[in-house]
Amino acid sequence: MAEIEKVHCLIIGSGPAGYTAAIYASRANLKPVLYQGLQPGGQLTITTDVENYPGYPEGIMGPQMMIDFEKQAQRMGADIRWGMATKVDFTNRPYKVEIDEEKWIEADSVIIATGASAKWLGLPSEQRLNGHGVSACAVCDGFFFKNQEVAIVGAGDTACEEALYLSKLCSTVHMLVRRDEMRASKVMQQRVFNTPNIKVYWNTDTLEVLGENKVDAIKVVNNHTNEETTIPVKAFFVAIGHQPNSDLFKGWLDMDEAGYLITQPGTSKTNIEGVFACGDVQDKIYRQAVTAAGSGCTAALDAERYLGALEHAHMEQQQATA
Ligand code: NDP
Repeated sequence: MAEIEKVHCLIIGSGPAGYTAAIYASRANLKPVLYQGLQPGGQLTITTDVENYPGYPEGIMGPQMMIDFEKQAQRMGADIRWGMATKVDFTNRPYKVEIDEEKWIEADSVIIATGASAKWLGLPSEQRLNGHGVSACAVCDGFFFKNQEVAIVGAGDTACEEALYLSKLCSTVHMLVRRDEMRASKVMQQRVFNTPNIKVYWNTDTLEVLGENKVDAIKVVNNHTNEETTIPVKAFFVAIGHQPNSDLFKGWLDMDEAGYLITQPGTSKTNIEGVFACGDVQDKIYRQAVTAAGSGCTAALDAERYLGALEHAHMEQQQATA
């Protein structure tokens, strides 16, 4: 029979949300066990400088920041482990989570902080220059390209929002749209069209990001005329959507049509009592390290209250039967 371990509070995921939940849960003596998942540290490990996280006046490198988060959680007593949740069974408490298809954890409470992954075009040059001018977060990295020309690909609300954000910092924003219309809401499109330094390229696909160790230009093609153009830019932002890492919870937890977990407003509570969600897996709007960390704190406090109430009920039951 597969090995079974019992824990009080299980945290799945190791970005700012998961580690913050671990810090708070440890300090509340919930003895949390955290499984890091495939990419320990999460999305911040593929960024460079982080300048918008309060408390780092000089900024900090994303990977270093996540090492610091981990160390802090460990110092508070969190049990941090390599491993990937591969299956869940939330039928009854204790909730069961399979790790690496090998062992099962039985947990009185579960905090889900599995994050989201940015979608990429899939070009080798995009991958090679990722973090060196190629980015999936304009709010994080736009500032490094002040007064420069940049490009952004995508035509949804995120792409429009990020193009508008960039237009306030950069000299010109070249916006690449693969069809002859945008998916974004009309109001966002209108704002883009009304911004003189955003130049929209319709029916345009990206062929390659050019540059050795930094972005120098992009090569694009008009998919109607097949005409190729090279546009000199210093950065290339990809805003073609995110994928919440929530497949594991399909059939158990309520999610929207894109797969984002649904939590009760103002809390981290999912539709299953004792199962909480925080960070990007339940946030398609803000998606910042600091908002993820804040929601990780909320989840740990919700878990603490939930476990406290359980213990209280258990004690009352024991007294009644004594
Ligand atoms: P969307 O899925 O809405 O849009 C993705 C965009 O990327 C589409 O225009 C799509 O093109 C384009 N795209 C996808 N793949 C490629 C590719 N390989 N090459 C070029 N372009 C590609 O994602 P968003 O992140 O924009 O939005 C997600 C959800 O969040 C939406 O519901 C949105 O409304 C919401 N949101 C709301 C905001 C707000 O209310 N302030 C802010 C941000 C997001 P195509 O249209 O051709 O498929």
